Amino acid sequence: MTTNGYLLDHTAAERLAGLGIRRFQVSLDGPARHHDHTRVRADGQGTFDRIWRNLLSIRDGSVDAHVLLRVHLTPGNLDVMPAFLTQVRDTFLDDRRFRVFLKRVVRLGGAGDASMEVLDAEDERIAALEEIVVSDGQGESLFEAEQVCYAARANSMMVRADGRLGKCTRRPVRTRQHRRAPAPRRHAGGGHPARFRRWLQGWESRDAELTACPYEAFTRQGPQLLQLTARPGS
Ligand code: SF4
Repeated sequence: MTTNGYLLDHTAAERLAGLGIRRFQVSLDGPARHHDHTRVRADGQGTFDRIWRNLLSIRDGSVDAHVLLRVHLTPGNLDVMPAFLTQVRDTFLDDRRFRVFLKRVVRLGGAGDASMEVLDAEDERIAALEEIVVSDGQGESLFEAEQVCYAARANSMMVRADGRLGKCTRRPVRTRQHRRAPAPRRHAGGGHPARFRRWLQGWESRDAELTACPYEAFTRQGPQLLQLTARPGS
């Protein structure tokens, strides 16, 4: 389950684990000063302190689950990352249920893309940050390669705050591509409905690009790609 972590305290994690959901991903945009700038409640209040408390409650409990902390890197938060990642490491990474994944924020299209500053993929400072988190004494990588997006997984659904279902959490549902390729309301017996299947087609075509980011494929190849799997009436 990918979640902002705002409601994921130890009690919620226990309940979900009891239902078979034992893997959680929580995104952090940096320490409170940065996270509360980008992840705000409807009333404008920040969310970092509560999320951090929730993570601590999971750490201090005994729930049989794993938490992947996805830490976002931008030019704006890079300076504070050495201290923040050190804090994350010292707070959570002695507990093997916790792992860290550093993710460079990238442009994915949309109105704010042109003005958005992103780090270069080859930026040496990113490797230096990885060193901080890897050097936890456990002698193993704490990072998971994101070779397959959850949107390409058949058992992955996104639930918006208003209850709507989708596949890709990173794109607003109002975009044209997402209107044309939404998740289904229900599964048809014996297979995936065509709209759902569009997100999974990388498995059939064995195209790694389509499993790494189905939405990118929709964007780039647009109608041509959609025609590959579109069915009458879908
Ligand atoms: S489909 Fe692409 S844009 Fe959407 S969540 Fe996956 S990687 Fe991100």
